[in-house]
Amino acid sequence: MSESSYAPICSAQSWDGDPCEQPCNEDAPYPVCETHLMYGYRYVNQTFLDEETGVRDWPVREPGPVGVVYYVRVGDQVKIGTTTMALDVRFQMLPPDRHLLATEPGGRDVERIRHLQFKHLRVVHNREWFRAGPDLWDHVRDLRERHGDPTSDPRVANRG
Ligand SMILES: [Zn+2]
Repeated sequence: MSESSYAPICSAQSWDGDPCEQPCNEDAPYPVCETHLMYGYRYVNQTFLDEETGVRDWPVREPGPVGVVYYVRVGDQVKIGTTTMALDVRFQMLPPDRHLLATEPGGRDVERIRHLQFKHLRVVHNREWFRAGPDLWDHVRDLRERHGDPTSDPRVANRG
């Protein structure tokens, strides 16, 4: 192949390290062939499609300050949310009987991973609320071991 007719080949490879070597799709946003473009599309579609609402939870995120992912129990449900605000400010929007369980560092990306991780516990039609299943309690316990008890901060202490 002469340099003037150079056509870039797909930069993707198999997990075994075998290069793809198909010609690139010229409109692709990065150098991959049509097959690998579609693999990526299908993966994203399957991974981020919300089965209940049919709304795609698109993983592209704005750059911004790293926030905190918080776990709050209200009644028998647990909200997994994220904020870059101070927690006490954020919690003013929650019912006063809210009970902070745990926090972990992270923003929308970590929140999204947790929402997928506990998808089987999700309260129908409610993106951020989950039933308090045993694996969610295990996770909360693990976070408290790793990141401490967030309610030791009097501003977010639980009432009662
Ligand atoms: Zn390819």
